[in-house]
Amino acid sequence: MSEITKELLYTGKAKDVYKTENENEVIIKFRDDITALDGGRKDTLSKKGEYNALISAKLFQILEERGIKTQFIRLVEPNEMLTKSLDMIPLEVICRNIATGSLLRKYPFHRNQELNPPIIQFDYKNDVYHDPMLNDSIITALKIASQEQLDKIREITHVINKVLSKFLKEKGLILVDFKIEFGLDAEGNIVLGDEISPDTTRLWDSETLDNFDKDIFRKGEEGVVDAYHKVVDLVLTTEEKEKWNVEKLED
Ligand code: C5P
Repeated sequence: MSEITKELLYTGKAKDVYKTENENEVIIKFRDDITALDGGRKDTLSKKGEYNALISAKLFQILEERGIKTQFIRLVEPNEMLTKSLDMIPLEVICRNIATGSLLRKYPFHRNQELNPPIIQFDYKNDVYHDPMLNDSIITALKIASQEQLDKIREITHVINKVLSKFLKEKGLILVDFKIEFGLDAEGNIVLGDEISPDTTRLWDSETLDNFDKDIFRKGEEGVVDAYHKVVDLVLTTEEKEKWNVEKLED
């Protein structure tokens, strides 16, 4: 645990949020818990939290360098992130470059069909209603966000998709799809929050199209943590891996 004094504010399926002495900052602790199938499959996998925090921190930094506002301040431990406190908007913003996953179960897309322009979809982050898909009218009627905020969220999501797709392509990974969440800072700016990790993205090996993400767990296969470790190895620099004592990958 980091030296920062903290008090548990909220506990989610895979992360805990702690209050700090600074009311504008919270600590997000990435746990080793993993869930899928609407909570129907659960496990605890050693190192998963650390790998997700390291990957999220790296991707948030890349986005900040490209002018996207994120809640990330710095990592205080390999699995703990100091972040700006946000008033989170209960939307799961899903962006898809390739048709797979629930899109194939619900609509007549071809498997692995390229989606250009990418599809952006909004799901309601609400366990009671099982995260139903929303549209602009439902979102504004429920006062989840204004039309202006939604337009801005779409615009930012397209930029995030472009920046991350390019960065990951250079590392040998295809960004197939991802889910992100936004919140409002004290000035009412829309800021990217939560995480961007193999729990919340689909990442495929550019050559083999093998999964390096939570689909391995969803399918009930072994090797989830090894895949996440591989993503850490691909996206972090040698210095970053040394700083956070990331074990070397076995050949
Ligand atoms: O399951 P589906 O195909 O709709 O998922 C699309 C993308 O959104 C995937 O990358 C998945 O990991 C992510 N997602 C998520 N959390 C959810 C639903 C989807 O991170 N509750």
